[in-house]
Amino acid sequence: MIENYYRPKSTEEAEQLLQNQTNAVFLAGGTQVNRAYLEREIPSTVIDVQDAIPHDIHVQQGQLVVGAMIRLQDLADDPRVPEALAQAAKFIPTRSVRNQATLGGNIGAARPDSYLIPILIAMKAHVVTSSGESSVEDYLQQKKRDLISTVSVPLGQGAAKAVKESRSHLALPVVSAGVWLKGSSHDIQEARVVAGCVANHALRLTSVEEGLVSGALSNPDSVELAIGQAISPSPNLLGSQTYKTHVNSVVIAKAIFACMEALG
Ligand SMILES: Cc1cc2nc3c(=O)[nH]c(=O)nc-3n(C[C@H](O)[C@H](O)[C@H](O)COP(=O)(O)OP(=O)(O)OC[C@H]3O[C@@H](n4cnc5c(N)ncnc54)[C@H](O)[C@@H]3O)c2cc1C
Repeated sequence: MIENYYRPKSTEEAEQLLQNQTNAVFLAGGTQVNRAYLEREIPSTVIDVQDAIPHDIHVQQGQLVVGAMIRLQDLADDPRVPEALAQAAKFIPTRSVRNQATLGGNIGAARPDSYLIPILIAMKAHVVTSSGESSVEDYLQQKKRDLISTVSVPLGQGAAKAVKESRSHLALPVVSAGVWLKGSSHDIQEARVVAGCVANHALRLTSVEEGLVSGALSNPDSVELAIGQAISPSPNLLGSQTYKTHVNSVVIAKAIFACMEALG
């Protein structure tokens, strides 16, 4: 049961409160925290961060700087947001959840099937916390969970695509991935291919990235095969390992070739 509610005015105050409490979590949109009851991880204290961190968007030195408290619907609707990131935000069902859920909360929740984390890692997004700046990838690996105040995404480089596959719009996904390529379709200089839903965290498919850059992977069959060899999703109610491997291979390969086409 939630017994204590705090609403700090600054990140310092929010982090101080977190340190002083046991079994406390930050509360942003609350769409994940309030599911805790179902998932049997019930916090006794929530620290509402809506007054402590920004929720605006601005462009600064070639970066899109997004306040971590931005609602996902606002992220999806802003024309300055790269299409791949806006698309990933729109994948979250439904509009009412997107009007409540935040970008910082999505990263903080660190769900392996997050729709946003794969594309943020693929696009080399960084977070700013009181400890400084780090890539989204490093932030999630550290598992430290400092309060994120902003998220920066480099603009105008390469081609990116976010993809998802689920049994229905509302169902949990079997594919949630992000792809980012730089160069041209015949000469890929840099590749980042990130898959959710295939491990307990978003996974960079480094062997696929290397194959794309070296030119060893240049046709759909070889790319699909390499993706299938790089992942080992667990079977569950959503599908068998064979099914999940197949659908991830096909959908992520299509995203890679869509990025190549966009590069020209
Ligand atoms: C019906 C429904 C469907 C959903 N479907 C999806 C889905 O398909 N894909 C998906 O990815 N998620 C889904 N979610 C989960 C959730 O909506 C998202 O992950 C959402 O983005 C979480 O944001 P929030 O602001 O609501 O986070 P909250 O619930 O407020 O917080 C989530 C976690 O993040 C931490 N946190 C919050 N803000 C910050 C911050 N600024 N810095 C660091 N940590 C922070 C909190 O302490 C908490 O541990 C769904 C939820 C619901 C209710």
